[in-house]
Amino acid sequence: VAQPEWIDVERWLTRTVVKPGPEHERALTTAQERGMPPIEVQPTSGKLLNLLVKISGARRVLEIGTLAGFSSIWMAQALPEDGHLDTLEYLPEHAAVARENLASAGLSEKVTVHVGPALDSLPGLTGSYDLVFIDADKQNNSRYLEWAVRLGRPGTVVVLDNTVWEGALLDTSRDAANAPSIVESLELLGGPLFDATVIQTTGSKGWDGFALAIVK
Ligand code: SAM
Repeated sequence: VAQPEWIDVERWLTRTVVKPGPEHERALTTAQERGMPPIEVQPTSGKLLNLLVKISGARRVLEIGTLAGFSSIWMAQALPEDGHLDTLEYLPEHAAVARENLASAGLSEKVTVHVGPALDSLPGLTGSYDLVFIDADKQNNSRYLEWAVRLGRPGTVVVLDNTVWEGALLDTSRDAANAPSIVESLELLGGPLFDATVIQTTGSKGWDGFALAIVK
């Protein structure tokens, strides 16, 4: 559970350093108005994704888990003129809101929202992607990592969200539905296919973390 001080610090950092634009605020407001769950990345992480796209010089980005397009906006804004983001979303109603938010942000041309279960959409995509952001159903984390390897190349940047899960990786019985798959995906990241680390985070989304990796 997020502690008030973590949230205050996150707000201060967001206001002072990250400085989201009206398009980011609008994406959050629209999601809230449509009754979508507030499970998008925090603004500090959105900006990190934006910077990772720039740092890696990514031209083709793949996102699994769109929601209202908040993280998609951050990443698409960092792409070069000829860059493109493919984002995969299971629920048509989430995809519709994401498309609206991306259009308001002037990013419709740069982003394709693919609707349906990601495991159905992935075989229809062709590589190679320069950066892959995984933030969908945790049960399929390992499958998505395998797809990141298949659709990537050596050096492809992979970000996997929600990897600490309030510490449930130490005791998976705390969340039997998700924690075992999170642990399995971390073991995969620690294996021969990836060069990886995990950063723990606190803030409005509680105690969690994200993995940052490159495909070997
Ligand atoms: N990346 C988004 C952001 O930070 O703004 C948040 C994504 S939210 C945590 C997870 C999204 O994944 C939800 O919109 C959910 O509907 C979608 N999702 C769940 N299972 C999925 C699946 N099998 N295939 C594709 N999307 C899925």
